[in-house]
Amino acid sequence: MIPPPTDLLEPSIDLTYWSPVTQKSITNEELGRSGRRSAEQANLAKVKTREYLNSLPNTTLIVFTDGSALGNPGPCGAAAIIHTHGLDMEPVILGKPISSNSSSYHGELAAIDLALEYCVTSTGSHHQHNTVSIQTDCQSAKATILGGRPNGFHTLVSNIHSHILKLEQNRVQVELIWVAGHVNIASNEMSDKAAKDAALEASTWCKEEDNSVKTVQEVKTHIRQGIMADWQRSWNIQLEGRFTHSLFPSVNTKPMRTNFYMATDIKINRLQSGHTLLPSHAHKLGFTPTDLCSCGRDKGTIPHVILHCPIYNKPRETLITELETIFRKANTPFHLRTIDIPTILGPNDALPPDVRLSIRKATGRFISASQAKI
Ligand SMILES: [Zn+2]
Repeated sequence: MIPPPTDLLEPSIDLTYWSPVTQKSITNEELGRSGRRSAEQANLAKVKTREYLNSLPNTTLIVFTDGSALGNPGPCGAAAIIHTHGLDMEPVILGKPISSNSSSYHGELAAIDLALEYCVTSTGSHHQHNTVSIQTDCQSAKATILGGRPNGFHTLVSNIHSHILKLEQNRVQVELIWVAGHVNIASNEMSDKAAKDAALEASTWCKEEDNSVKTVQEVKTHIRQGIMADWQRSWNIQLEGRFTHSLFPSVNTKPMRTNFYMATDIKINRLQSGHTLLPSHAHKLGFTPTDLCSCGRDKGTIPHVILHCPIYNKPRETLITELETIFRKANTPFHLRTIDIPTILGPNDALPPDVRLSIRKATGRFISASQAKI
């Protein structure tokens, strides 16, 4: 994992001179959020967008842009649909593979750049257009361009700004408008498809042979992926920590947040790492004369205490009832409703985050109620 040489890294550019372009918005709260939009909201978004587009005079060049990444990060592409002669005429379709390994946000910015570059060369004082209206379904790309202080992608944003300045010098105003994505607006769908095609084309680029200039984000992603892959490899072959590996086969930098007292969280962490004060471990360290549990039936191991020891029957019954309720309420598939150590202590990636958090809380209550020395 070697980051690209610095001459292939985009320069950092001061964009503080920038003053925003005309900003219009047809969005409002009623239109909901992407992915959670109801059929009613989608329809409203479509009607509002239609109304807006129909209100534009024929001196406006209507542009739809979209970026797409196959995976996040992944091969990424950009596309623009440009209606040079109104919405009813065949548009110009532009598509461009952008990177073998980047984000859809990168694609979204690149799509706006692609569209504006086209507009700079095809509009001007001798043309009929005095406005370019760009419809993007990416709020953050819009905010970056208007805000003038992007977190990376400096070259792209700087290019976008200079395209806009050139257009303004040619007496062409630029509008940047957010449209709700995936609400069946034909041109938006068309740009979506063209961006996906471009991303597909980028996927044929071999990562090692990709000598395009890298954004700081791409380099960071590249390094992060490399570190994570190295960490995963060494975690897989480590001789120590096999118990923890059985609970957490995949390395992860995200901590599981809970609302416990620190003491309970520490005990859960001890159980997950196998380093506890339970007899089996304490005996190994020479703290106790025996590794037998005080119930006398078996070794005081983590599975024994959590799943079998009669001393903890009462809190265990509560734990099992709570787990069953969590599964039932979340409609968890039956094959995932196992009550075992990986489910109780592990991250169990097959379960949704809210279920995992509820399980962790129930485990914490079991630990507190059991008063076991962990
Ligand atoms: Zn016992």
